[in-house]
Amino acid sequence: NSVFSHVVRAPEDPILGVTVAYNKDPSPVKLNLGVGAYRTDEGKPLVLNVVRKAEQQLVNDRSRVKEYLPITGLADFNKLSAKLIFGADSPAIQENRVTTVQCLSGTGSLRVGAEFLARHYHQRTIYIPQPTWGNHPKVFTLAGLSVKTYRYYDPATRGLNFQGLLEDIGSAPSGAIVLLHACAHNPTGVDPTLQQWENIRKLMRSKGLLPFFDSAYQGFASGSLDSDAKPVRMFVADGGELLVAQSYAKNMGLYGERVGALSIVCRNADVAGRVESQLKLVIRPMYSNPPIHGASIVAFILKDRNLYNEWTIELKAMADRIISMRRQLFDALRARGTPGDWSHIIKQIGMFTFTGLNSAQVAFMTKEYHIYMTSDGRISMAGLSSKTVPHLADAIHAAVT
Ligand code: PLP
Repeated sequence: NSVFSHVVRAPEDPILGVTVAYNKDPSPVKLNLGVGAYRTDEGKPLVLNVVRKAEQQLVNDRSRVKEYLPITGLADFNKLSAKLIFGADSPAIQENRVTTVQCLSGTGSLRVGAEFLARHYHQRTIYIPQPTWGNHPKVFTLAGLSVKTYRYYDPATRGLNFQGLLEDIGSAPSGAIVLLHACAHNPTGVDPTLQQWENIRKLMRSKGLLPFFDSAYQGFASGSLDSDAKPVRMFVADGGELLVAQSYAKNMGLYGERVGALSIVCRNADVAGRVESQLKLVIRPMYSNPPIHGASIVAFILKDRNLYNEWTIELKAMADRIISMRRQLFDALRARGTPGDWSHIIKQIGMFTFTGLNSAQVAFMTKEYHIYMTSDGRISMAGLSSKTVPHLADAIHAAVT
């Protein structure tokens, strides 16, 4: 008899479980819109050309060894990552008051940042948007923070509940941490306007709330790395402190390489140095030091002007394809006379559309049309192609009529 015989089977991860179900379906028309990964118009995963080029050159460089990285990761990678999110001319970088550590993609960066806060920050409550990426509450709770939510999405308008957001953040206790999606909010695709960001910033600073940005989609929302970083840069420009978790999963297509960074912008260089020393104490017993390959690719691309430019072009092409899928799906629903206002499909941005379909309609579409998505009605626009748009439009039409 096993010493583990009392272990009960855990449920599938609600997002990754969609793919498990999809893989089991033998239908030739099946469509997976649950996965948060970019696909080409042929429905294939994409490795960026710049990534191939960088890898080629890295492989040919015989001077490269497989030694351990420092606890904080690859120094070049960290510097370049800070520059990417804060801007080349960021005063915070020039004043040496940013500490950046390489972490295991966006998730790992959130986890390390959260554990640091749980150990060293006076307020252990973090406010996350309702809804948010399903992993957020788990990551923060396990890191030792206590999770509360603020209103974010308004189902009636399929847009931002700005009044609710201001009320909830406004009544958070002084010093509380607030998780903000830097751009392309997951799962809703709804972002505040720059004017609304400015109001959020003023409110948060006036109450001494600590911003923790999750930047998983820089460049993916608008196609521009700088535009998508604007909200973060607004909060840095006021001289206040904040955290940012960056991921290169989507914008460089490095999903499985697990490459990301945590930056903490501090009041001055002295604090930043001490904060970094404590980040090392969080990381060392967790995984010792991060992997070398993905960070080397990123640093290689960010360092080289030509590769960097090529990257921005490939990134924009991915963003543009997603935007064109929104238009095609919207047009297909209009052509079918599908009841309802579907303009949110073209208004929302980033990888996902929050369709407004309920869980019964989602179940119907899976059963009758072999279309897989999370039960909250979120579909990955990146998983869609010109060929599959009509099938999806037929399914949505049938689900709502
Ligand atoms: N944050 C958000 C909002 C996300 O959507 C994701 C990925 O789906 C992540 C963080 C983390 O992704 P990764 O750990 O692969 O970088």
